[in-house]
Amino acid sequence: MDYLPLFCQLRGRACLLVGGGEVAERKARLLLKAGADLRVCAPHFSAPFHEWQQTGQLTLIEGTFEAEMLAACWLAIAATDSHEVNQQVQTAAEERQIFCNVVDAPEAASVIMPSIIDRSPLLVAVSSGGRAPVMARLLREKIEALLPQHLGKIAAFAGSLRQRVKQDFSEMSQRRRFWEKLFSHDRLAQSLASDDAPQVEKLTEALFQAPLSDRGEVVLVGAGPGDAGLLTLKGLQQLQQADIVIYDRLVSEEILELVRRDAERLFVGKRAGHHCVPQEEINQILLHHAQQGKRVVRLKGGDPFIFGRGGEELETLAAHHIPFSVVPGITAASGCSAYAGIPLTHRDHAQSVRLVTGHLKHENQLDWSKLAAEQQTLVFYMGLSQAPEIQRQLLAQGMAADMPVALVENGTSVRQRVVDGTLTQLAELAQQVQSPSLIIVGRVVTLRHKLNLSQSA
Ligand code: SAH
Repeated sequence: MDYLPLFCQLRGRACLLVGGGEVAERKARLLLKAGADLRVCAPHFSAPFHEWQQTGQLTLIEGTFEAEMLAACWLAIAATDSHEVNQQVQTAAEERQIFCNVVDAPEAASVIMPSIIDRSPLLVAVSSGGRAPVMARLLREKIEALLPQHLGKIAAFAGSLRQRVKQDFSEMSQRRRFWEKLFSHDRLAQSLASDDAPQVEKLTEALFQAPLSDRGEVVLVGAGPGDAGLLTLKGLQQLQQADIVIYDRLVSEEILELVRRDAERLFVGKRAGHHCVPQEEINQILLHHAQQGKRVVRLKGGDPFIFGRGGEELETLAAHHIPFSVVPGITAASGCSAYAGIPLTHRDHAQSVRLVTGHLKHENQLDWSKLAAEQQTLVFYMGLSQAPEIQRQLLAQGMAADMPVALVENGTSVRQRVVDGTLTQLAELAQQVQSPSLIIVGRVVTLRHKLNLSQSA
């Protein structure tokens, strides 16, 4: 280890910053955030420095650096554009055994500044020891994206509960379980983020009161249509906190790769030659695991509330007072249309879009005359086996025989295939693709040849 990471308490402690330009400004911002008693020395200062002085946040010393300025300082930062001056600051600090950061020669200095992810009081600092600063920055961006903005609020809130948790739970393992539940309680996090104090109190009390085994929760997460890049950040965070992930066949391997390594995985989809697990049984499985106190993630292709039967699963949970939340996903219609170059609406061709299920329980469940109207786009989910019926009904209701149609198979994945033609060819085209496929009907399909970036079959 070339450096020891330390978190310094600078509040009210004298620090000297040498330099009055843009680089120095960035350092000043950090030091002010940390509450340092900041003195800044330079012959000239940029505008923000004058503002900070006027508001009493720091002291400006106009002129050149002198070693005496370091008297009583805990930390020095050399941030001028002159290598020579920076060196002087460093030498003087070294002589006085004061830690010093030097912007243009970090490797020679006694302190380097890490990249910071600030979720105060939670702080993550990343450093490559000055060897690969771009890599450190990229890593910082990744961590930044992974850590919810409101994490700091949760950490601060946890701090306020520490005493009570000590009192209420005598055993270490109980406390740990309590904290795990608290930190992964999505609704509590949301309530803290939105400063909803009554709700925070209610949920916290419920956590304290319920037996530890009862503190399960279910999060319905939309996995998007296939490409793992289309998972939301929030969805990813949930996958990484899950005790168990219950998924079906539309969830891609790539997405499953992102599930926390130790989490249990349960497949409830259809395997070749077998039927899928009936919905009622899935509802019971979710309930069962949540009642064991687990954090259950129900992972669904696309968006859980669009032909995902998410609503039915939640009804069962609500009836048993299991806390739940929903993380939306990119639905197949959005994903496929974007990746196939077919905008769902267009000022000239379609003023509305309808998401329609092709999986019909009864004849006449759909009002075909409304579906056959011009100037709209129809997107059929689960429509492959019903393609002949869709074609027949739309033609019978007077939709133009040359209405363009496209079928997108495995949309957004590397296996995406698109076939297109006209309404009279729909049944035939449906024979050329496999499930999962989406049927898009409308004049917008013609734009595909102008806009398409991906391959077609
Ligand atoms: N909740 C999902 C839809 C579930 S219904 C969503 O919001 O996307 C299942 C149907 O979705 C499939 O029969 C198919 O029509 C469509 N579908 C899902 N993923 C797809 C994909 N990657 N490519 C094409 N169609 C897809």
